[in-house]
Amino acid sequence: FGTLSDRLVATFSNLRTKGKLSPADVDGTVREIRRALLDADVNLDVVKQFTGRVRERALGDEVNRALNPAQQVVQIVNEELIGILGGQQRRLEFAKQPPTVIMLAGLQGAGKTTLAGKLAKWLAGQNHTPILVAADLQRPNAVQQLQIVGGQAGVPVFAPEPGNGVGNPVRVAKDAMKYARDRQHDVVIVDTAGRLGVDQELMRQAADIKRAIDPDEVLFVLDAMIGQDAVATAKAFQDGVDFSGVVLTKLDGDARGGAALSVASVTGRPIIFASTGERLDDFEPFYPDRMASRILDLGDVLTLIEQAQKAFDEEEALKVAEKFATDTFTLEDFLSQMQQLKKMGSLKGMLGMLPGAKGMREQLENFDERELVRTEAIIQSMTPAERRNPKLLNGSRRLRIARGSGMTVTDVNGLVQRFEQAAKMMKTVARGGVPNIPGMGPV
Ligand code: GDP
Ligand code: MG
Repeated sequence: FGTLSDRLVATFSNLRTKGKLSPADVDGTVREIRRALLDADVNLDVVKQFTGRVRERALGDEVNRALNPAQQVVQIVNEELIGILGGQQRRLEFAKQPPTVIMLAGLQGAGKTTLAGKLAKWLAGQNHTPILVAADLQRPNAVQQLQIVGGQAGVPVFAPEPGNGVGNPVRVAKDAMKYARDRQHDVVIVDTAGRLGVDQELMRQAADIKRAIDPDEVLFVLDAMIGQDAVATAKAFQDGVDFSGVVLTKLDGDARGGAALSVASVTGRPIIFASTGERLDDFEPFYPDRMASRILDLGDVLTLIEQAQKAFDEEEALKVAEKFATDTFTLEDFLSQMQQLKKMGSLKGMLGMLPGAKGMREQLENFDERELVRTEAIIQSMTPAERRNPKLLNGSRRLRIARGSGMTVTDVNGLVQRFEQAAKMMKTVARGGVPNIPGMGPV
C-alpha cells in the first residue's frame, strides 16, 4: 500500500500546518482521499460511502471542538478505514464439537493450497491436530502439491486412493470427514479446486462440497493482486457458495491492493487472515486496526497523536497556571495533576517508541505510584472545605484525616507542606510561564 499511504500522509501533512479547518479545507482533503483511494483500486461504492462519512464527521462538532482539528480528521479517517476493513478483529471460529471443518474456496492461483499449508502449520503450532484434505481433483498435480505442502507443515494429508473416488471431490471430502473423526483430528482443512475465472460448474462443485461436509468456516481466498476484479469475484463466490470469511493473499506484492480492501465492506464478511509470501510462515491473522495504521502510516499518526497530546498538556498547564496566579489552586487540583501523570504512565510503552520522548519516559519511570495512592487517600479523607482551603487544617483535623486515611499525622503534615510549598513557588513561577507539576519536578 506504499503509494496509497504516501498520498494519504501527504494529504494530512497539508492539513497539519493549519489550525481550525474551514469547509473548504475539509472538501479539499476529502477530494484528495477520494482520488488516492480510487487510484489504489478501491471499489467506487466503498469510496463514496467512506468519503461521505469522513466528510460528514469532519465538518461536524467533534472536529470543531477538537484541540487539534487536523489530528481529529486523521482519527476519523483511521476509524472509518478500520470500519471498511471489517471493524473488530474476527478470529477463526472453532466448532464446539470437534472437528472444526474449514473449507477453502477461490479462483485458481489465488493461493488456496499454499494457504491450506500455512493454516495447518499455524494450527499445529497451537496444539491442534489438523488434517489436510485434497478435494481439488481438477488439476493434475493438485493432490501432489498439497502433499508436499502438508509435508512441509508436518501435517497429514487425506487424498483419494487411486480408483476410489477419483474425480469426485464431494466423495473425497465426505470420506475425509470420517477418517478425521476416527483419528481424532480436531481441525479438517479442505482444499478445493479453482478455475481461472468464475464459472457455474466450479460454483456448483464448491456448493456441493459445502453441503456434504457442513463446514464451520468457508474461507474465500482472494489474491490481492487481481485488482478491480476482486469485488466481482467475491460477489460471485458469495452468491454461488457463500463464505464466512476472507483470506487476502499476496499482500507482499506491490499491487495497489485497494480492491481487496473493499471486499469486507462489499460482502459484509470479515477478513480473517492475511498471506504475505510464498513461505509457510508468511501468514498472520488479519487485524483491521493494524492494517489501517499501516495504510495511514503508523509512525506518522503516532507523531500526530503526540502533537495533540502536547497541545492538550499546554492547555491544561495554562489553566493550572491561572489557578496558581489567582491563588485558587486546591488540593483537589493537586490530586488531579498527580492522577494525570499516572494516566500518562500507561502511555509509557508508546512514548518509548517515539524519538524525543526519552526524557518523559524517565520521568514516568521515577514516578512512584504508591505516593499517588497515599496522596489520594489523604485528600479523600478531607472535607471539601479543607481541600479548598488547607489553612483550616488544625491539629485535630489532621488527626482525623490521618485516622480516616490510614496514614500518620506526619504523612498528612508532609503532604500539606509539599502542597503549600508548591503552591507558593508556583504562584511566582506562574507569572513567568508554564508551571511544573508540584512535587514532581519539571515534566
Ligand atoms: P491455488 O490454485 O489457489 O491453490 O493457489 P496456490 O496455493 O497453488 O498458489 C498459487 C501461486 O501463488 C503459487 O506459486 C504460490 O507460491 C503463490 N502464493 C500463494 N500465496 C502467496 C502469497 O501470499 N504471496 C506470494 N508472493 N505468493 C503466493
Ligand atoms: Mg490449489
